Amino acid sequence: MKPTNTFKKAIWVYHLNTGSCNGCDIEIVAAITPRYDAERFGIKLVGSPRHADVLLVTGPVTKDMEERVKRIYAQVPDPKFVICVGGCAIDNGVFYNSYNTLGGVDKVIPVDVYLPGCPPRPEAVLHAVVKLWEKVENQEKTKAKLKKYARK
Ligand code: SF4
Repeated sequence: MKPTNTFKKAIWVYHLNTGSCNGCDIEIVAAITPRYDAERFGIKLVGSPRHADVLLVTGPVTKDMEERVKRIYAQVPDPKFVICVGGCAIDNGVFYNSYNTLGGVDKVIPVDVYLPGCPPRPEAVLHAVVKLWEKVENQEKTKAKLKKYARK
């Protein structure tokens, strides 16, 4: 993993469980404990989607959660990003064909990074956030370059 000074600013994450078995959630909790210490990279878990840059979503989307997921997504300020954590968040996973789930998270909101695993390990959760971070910074650099060339 790259050192923290690679990134310009901290990234704030809101954790949302849309119907997971809690396996993925426990790994996310492990990622923020002192053993893995996500905050040393500037990755901070926040208590409100209104303060977040990124939604970290676990589980398939249950029918009950559909409207809530959309509402929570709308509450995250732009520019916003979504990482879905675990096989269930990607494509329903072990809940395949369940009467009460709609499928993966991208059935309801746009997703930027897919992290497979059942559940993915804390190192993988950190890696997914860092990958998203790099993607965002690369987009910003490309935008800045395009602006520079547009002025010439
Ligand atoms: S991917 Fe595995 S651990 Fe994660 S919510 Fe689904 S069944 Fe549980």
